Amino acid sequence: MQTRLSAAFLDTPDGQEADAILRKCVHCGFCAATCPTYQLLGDELDGPRGRIYLIKEMLEGARPSHSTQLHLDRCLTCRACETTCPSGVRYGRLLDIGRHRVELIVPRTMRQRLLRRALLAIVPRRKRFAFLLSLGRALRPLMPAPLRRSLPARQHAGSWPAPRHGRRMLVLKGCVQAATAPDINAAAARVLDRLGISLIEMNDGCCGALAHHLSAQDAARARMRRNIDVWWPLIANGAEALVVTASGCGAMVREYGELLRDDPAYARKAARVSELFRDISQVVARELEKPGAPFESRPPGGGGRRVAFHSPCTLQHGLQLRGIVEPLLERAGYTLTRVVDGHLCCGSAGTYSLLQPRISRQLRANKLDALQADAPDLIATANIGCLMHLASGADRPIRHWIELLAEAIASSR
Ligand code: SF4
Ligand code: SF4
Repeated sequence: MQTRLSAAFLDTPDGQEADAILRKCVHCGFCAATCPTYQLLGDELDGPRGRIYLIKEMLEGARPSHSTQLHLDRCLTCRACETTCPSGVRYGRLLDIGRHRVELIVPRTMRQRLLRRALLAIVPRRKRFAFLLSLGRALRPLMPAPLRRSLPARQHAGSWPAPRHGRRMLVLKGCVQAATAPDINAAAARVLDRLGISLIEMNDGCCGALAHHLSAQDAARARMRRNIDVWWPLIANGAEALVVTASGCGAMVREYGELLRDDPAYARKAARVSELFRDISQVVARELEKPGAPFESRPPGGGGRRVAFHSPCTLQHGLQLRGIVEPLLERAGYTLTRVVDGHLCCGSAGTYSLLQPRISRQLRANKLDALQADAPDLIATANIGCLMHLASGADRPIRHWIELLAEAIASSR
């Protein structure tokens, strides 16, 4: 694609990056075939190619409008289009740049501003979020049914083995997952303990993804720096990896190095953090290949329970880890059911379910139909956002896959 970006913008790092991305796009439109919003809304401007044109026009000098903002807001940032694109267009990064520019130019309505501020003030702050969650649970009987269903049930963390191994890895505690499903990290610690690795959780906070996707870049970078400060003593002390059990947070942590590359005080540390990042599935898959790993000689503990696996967009498109979890569940004795259109987003997408509720609900209904079509006993996934979103509409249990693996290991001893 030929570009004529304004000279002033082209002179900035974002301008050069956007120009390079735009020039890779050959307008073929293959990406539309896997775009959930294009499939639902049928408007070219609600597909990747249309959004790329909108961003290009704006970066070439056209003034963005509320309509530009709406079409970019409706994007789920699922990045299915990146997986499909034969030219390697980094759409997600272009969208970040485009959204940030629109945010600076197009004013939002009072309602939108208040909602975004409230999300930024509550969701990434673990204690505030946990307090409001407890309050919501106390008031549950008074709530309308749809709101009641969206409140996650209380979960207590299972045991966390004391550090006893020479091999140590850090794990992101984060915000929403720590408040709603603390057993996910504990289950990861139990699995890794069995594999000869001690998992250490520190008092870090939100990875920055929520602020990043709301185009609050300064707030996102402040969170990244704070987390790096918390982790650094253990990293400097030889922690082997930084493990993340929520793929949405993992996709963010993997980008710390890129997003802080111009920060002289943090660029080196951020690059090291990205280098050490591992999704929990990568660690488990690698360790299970070693001789003497669980399930090698003992019967697997999954007991043949039928599981539908929902692969989050951040796992399959963001981190490009397609098909990594399913064999782990099968090896642990679970039977995987068939799921059609597994590449499509469930509609969770961070805060999307709150900001674009109509599209989000439709995508959830479609996804649940696909997941439940083969009558599984339960649904498993790899990201807390998807888990909570699907649980609010599903008629069977939804778990993180690492919890299922921990149960299978415990029952195969
Ligand atoms: S990120 Fe997802 S919703 Fe956005 S344009 Fe790409 S495929 Fe469509
Ligand atoms: S598939 Fe890639 S090259 Fe083709 S229109 Fe979409 S982004 Fe552009």
